[in-house]
Amino acid sequence: MLDTEVYSCNSCNGWMRKDFVSSDLKCPLCGDETTVEMRELPQIL
Ligand SMILES: [Zn+2]
Repeated sequence: MLDTEVYSCNSCNGWMRKDFVSSDLKCPLCGDETTVEMRELPQIL
C-alpha cells in the first residue's frame, strides 16, 4: 500500500488519483468540487 494524494468529491463518493485528475479537478461522477486528501491505495505498476 502507498500513501496516495487523491481528490475526493464533496457531494458523492467519487474520487480520483492526483495522477488522473480531470483538467478542472471536478468530480468525474457528478461534476461537483473535490477536496485533496491522502489515502492508502495499492501502488500502480
Ligand atoms: Zn461527485
